[in-house]
Order: sequence, then C-alpha cells, then structure tokens
Amino acid sequence: MRVCVIGTGYVGLVTGVCLSHIGHKVICIDNNEEKVKLMKSGQTPIYEPGLSDLMQSCMKSGKLEFTTDLGYGVDNSDILFIAVGTPALPTGDSDTRYVEAVARGIGAHLKEGYKVIVNKSTVPIGSGDWVQMIVLDGVSERQKAEGGSGSEEISAEFDVVSNPEFLREGSAVFDTFNPDRIVLGSNNQKALDMMAELYQPLVDRTFGEEEYKELPPVPIVMTDLNSAEMIKYAANSFLATKISFINEIANICDRVGADVVQVSKGIGLDSRIGSKFLQAGLGWGGSCFPKDVSALIHTADDYNYEAELLKSAVNVNKRQRLLVLEKLQQEIKILKGKTVGLLGLTFKPDTDDMRDAPALDLIEQLHRLGAKVKAYDPIVSQTGMRHGLANAIVETDLDRLADGCDALVLVTDWEQFRKIDYEQMAKLMNHAVIIDGRNFLDRQAAEKAGFRYVGIGH
Ligand code: NAD
Repeated sequence: MRVCVIGTGYVGLVTGVCLSHIGHKVICIDNNEEKVKLMKSGQTPIYEPGLSDLMQSCMKSGKLEFTTDLGYGVDNSDILFIAVGTPALPTGDSDTRYVEAVARGIGAHLKEGYKVIVNKSTVPIGSGDWVQMIVLDGVSERQKAEGGSGSEEISAEFDVVSNPEFLREGSAVFDTFNPDRIVLGSNNQKALDMMAELYQPLVDRTFGEEEYKELPPVPIVMTDLNSAEMIKYAANSFLATKISFINEIANICDRVGADVVQVSKGIGLDSRIGSKFLQAGLGWGGSCFPKDVSALIHTADDYNYEAELLKSAVNVNKRQRLLVLEKLQQEIKILKGKTVGLLGLTFKPDTDDMRDAPALDLIEQLHRLGAKVKAYDPIVSQTGMRHGLANAIVETDLDRLADGCDALVLVTDWEQFRKIDYEQMAKLMNHAVIIDGRNFLDRQAAEKAGFRYVGIGH
C-alpha cells in the first residue's frame, strides 16, 4: 500500500521504516530540513537499536523515501499518518498545534481519491473529529486561495482513524514487529478495513521474532475514535500509577525494614498483578508518561471530574525524584561544596531521549543546594548532547566521573553499569557512597569494595 508518515521522530521514523520493511511504499516527511537531509544520506536522527540498518536496507529497496514536501506525500499515498509531537502545555493540557498544522496542510493538498488520515500522535480525546474539521478547513482555505468561495464540493474523500502507538523507546523496532495488540478507532468501516490490510503482515507475525511466530495472530481492537484515544491514555496512566504504587511501597519498606525487591517478586508472581513495571526507583519520566497522565487529568477536569488517583500518582512521582537528595543528605550531610556523580542521564536505557528525564530535576536540585554535579551516560557522553545540562559536567568515562566524587547516584539502569569496577571507582572518590536509584547494581560487590550502598526500599 502507499503510505505517508508525517513527523519522523521516535514514533514516525520507526513506523515508516517498519511499514516499508513489511512491503509498503512509504514516504516519510518532516519539516525539519536538517533531519530530512540526514535521513536522505542514510543516517537516523535518533538513537534506536536496529533502526539504522533497517532504514538503510529499506532505502536501497526503493520502498522508503524522505522529503519535506507534504504535497508530494499527500498526492502519492492512500494512508497518511500524523506522527508529530504533542508536548505538554504549562496547564497540563496537550499542545496540539503541530497536529493542527499537519491536518490543515493535508487539507490544503487533498485533491482526489479516497484517503485515510491516521492519528498516530497521542491526542486528547475528541481529536479525531477535530482533525476531520481542521482538514476540511484546510480544503476550503485552498479553494478560497484559488479564487473559489471555499464551500465547493471536493473530489477527495477521507476518513480519520485513531491508531495509538504503544512502542517503547529503546526497543521500538522490536515492539513494532511484535506488538501486544493493534488499536484502530474509526466510525467508518472502509477506513478500518484499509488499516487492517496495512497491518496484516504484522498481525500474521510474519516479521516478528522467531519465538513470537508460534503465538496466535496479534489481536486487533477495532473501536470508535474516542475509545481508541482513551485506550492510549488509560494504558500509560495505568503503567505510571503501577510504578508510583511500588515506589510508595518501597518508601514504606525503607521505614519498616522490608526489602521492596523481594516484595515486588512476591506480588509480581500473582498473575493478576504481573511483574512488569513493578521495580521501585527514582520514578517515571520521559516524553510520554508525564504528559499523558497530566493530559488525562486535564481532560477529566474539563468534564468536571477530579482524577484523584492519577493526581496522587503524579505527586508520588514528584516526591520520588527528590528522595535521592534526602538519601544523599543522610550519607554525606551538607551538599554545598560536595561533588555528586550521576550514572546515566537519559530517562531510560537504550535511548538518547532526555525529555523529562529524572536526571534533569536532580541536577537542578543539586545545583540549587550548591553541589557540583558530574555525569556519565553511555549515549549522552558520546554524542556531546548538552540540552538541559548547563549545570552538570558530562564526563567521557567512569574513571573521570568517579574522580573526586563524594557520592555516586545511579539514575539510569544502562546494562553497562552492571560491570562497574567498584574497587577502581572507590580509589578515585573522596567518599565511597553509592545511591542505587534503580535497585539495579550488585550490592555485594559494591560493599566488598568498601562502598556504602543505599537502595530505594532495598
Ligand atoms: P518527536 O518529537 O520525536 O518527533 C516529532 C517529529 O515531528 C519531529 O521530527 C518534528 O520535526 C516533526 N514535525 C513537527 N511538526 C511538523 C510538521 N508540521 N510537518 C512535518 N513534521 C513535523 O515525537 P515522538 O516522540 O515521535 O512522538 C510523536 C507522538 O507519538 C506524540 O504524540 C507522542 O506522545 C506519541 N508517542 C510517543 C512515544 C515515544 O515513545 N516517543 C510512544 C507512543 C506514542
């Protein structure tokens, strides 16, 4: 099928590349010329395991192209994905201006033939109908610009589908080929049928990992627009609340002398609960959970409902990020004039995404208290990314990080940190203290090397 994906970030680029790999002809569009230039040269503007090789092979096969030209994408596609960002506004609501610009632009280029316009971006509930309206506005603006009245019949027909994305950064390619489910929301059967055809190779698990090929077909949830949009918010809000729940249990464990790692194991084995998203730590962050939970709270507010549970999940998370400061103060007392080294900066391992990363809050708070902050991150230290890191020194290796530190804090559970040479690190530090913000490190090895090890409820 002929597909156009507008917005080539973590979601759009991965979607475009994977749809091309399963046999569709894909045009990826971005309005950032630098990004498009980079992708045309075969390079990915984001770090995502496996993406670069797959993208290059799709380009070679002639089934994947990149452009800034929206008109070209609209003319040459039957299915158009909107995959631009929907960041949070200061009010907590979603900023939908990028979606609006794309929808209007699609309308301005719609000429003839049937098109399906797909909301892949996470958008507030009710956005499906709103996108439909904006596309029609775009059509009539073009008609007026061409000297018409703006209310002429158009020969193009279109329907809007909500197809929320559930991929995880760090395993986005894997998740796209091995989804737990595909959600399609529309009030039009023809549009739903076209989407089902598009995803058929994924549903049949033709491209998934070997072990997944044995499983039954990927379930498709076909529903109305509003329910599909709500599924995305409900999924992220549930997962964020689950993490806040175990963090609350961890804080109680700390006080009563229980070990949250054992508690998680003990409750996670209950099939009604499940073990995923039950690891205590510094709390959730990233480009999705914070903004999606606050957008749902905001939507509920708009409809006169106070989402108390979700508000508590957010408050527990805010408190959790600052817990490290308390733990540092307990261990090294006054932070002013001390040096703290952060292990990891990105909001989770295997990504270069720093959006709403707990490390950023921590750096600001430590800086405010007069501490010097150093950091090492396997990706950030290599790429020299500095956004939001004005108050931290980014070191290029672990020895340089440890040198002169009064304490280390593990912020991101990168696999590489499992192999830390604690003896070498301890030699270089002023005080061998380590706060394990993800209960991830080898406590015994750290203590054997003379470290004072402090976990989260562990
Ligand atoms: P992103 O910020 O990484 O990428 C957005 C891209 O859209 C950028 O490359 C930007 O240049 C481009 N863009 C903006 N305006 C444009 C325009 N008018 N025309 C063409 N391109 C334009 O965003 P993302 O992380 O990929 O997220 C996209 C959406 O998917 C968001 O709504 C997000 O909530 C949702 N989502 C994200 C994830 C995730 O893990 N990142 C997972 C599920 C859902």
